[in-house]
Amino acid sequence: MNEDIKEILYSKEQIEEISKKIGAQLTIDYAGKKPLVICVLKGAILFMADIIRKMDTYTEIDFMDVSSYGDSTVSSGEVKIIKDLDVPVEGRNVLIIEDIIDTGKTLQCIVSLLKHRKAQSVKICTLLDKPERRVEGVVPNYVGFQVPNEFVVGYGLDYQGMYRNLPYVGILKEEIYENN
Ligand code: 5GP
Ligand code: MG
Ligand code: MG
Repeated sequence: MNEDIKEILYSKEQIEEISKKIGAQLTIDYAGKKPLVICVLKGAILFMADIIRKMDTYTEIDFMDVSSYGDSTVSSGEVKIIKDLDVPVEGRNVLIIEDIIDTGKTLQCIVSLLKHRKAQSVKICTLLDKPERRVEGVVPNYVGFQVPNEFVVGYGLDYQGMYRNLPYVGILKEEIYENN
């Protein structure tokens, strides 16, 4: 699996350090607010698991699966809800945890849905941000790292369902997806 990676962008240690930092900030920002932390499946599961353990405040978690990509490495522009939340969001302080913001279409869709359902506040925490490709006006409140316009995998991010279990974030070799 490691041999399919062209370059490691962020190591396990760097990710650990940034989650600690963001978790500490969230502990301050959400003190007394009992946030509902939403993990956008499946890519955000590792980041969510790390972040919530660093939030020293009462939190509830829920999961949502919204797909815009299929198996391709380029956004299809289509967003559909595969799994909705179990918990009502009305009046809640919602924190969305994402793996990466690319065009912003996925988050644009989730944020407007949560606002429509009358969440009290909606904030976004993303491990990675690819600002070059943004087409929607989505601005994350907490960002781990910015990444160049390359297709990255690892630490939750996949290519055709694989590579999520790599402990780091790296650029996938082009030949892996060019051959498909
Ligand atoms: P957006 O709607 O912002 O264009 O796309 C967001 C979703 O596309 C992410 O949650 C992620 O699942 C997928 N995505 C975007 N860029 C990448 C990338 O470089 N690598 C991987 N593995 N997924 C990506
Ligand atoms: Mg995602
Ligand atoms: Mg994916």
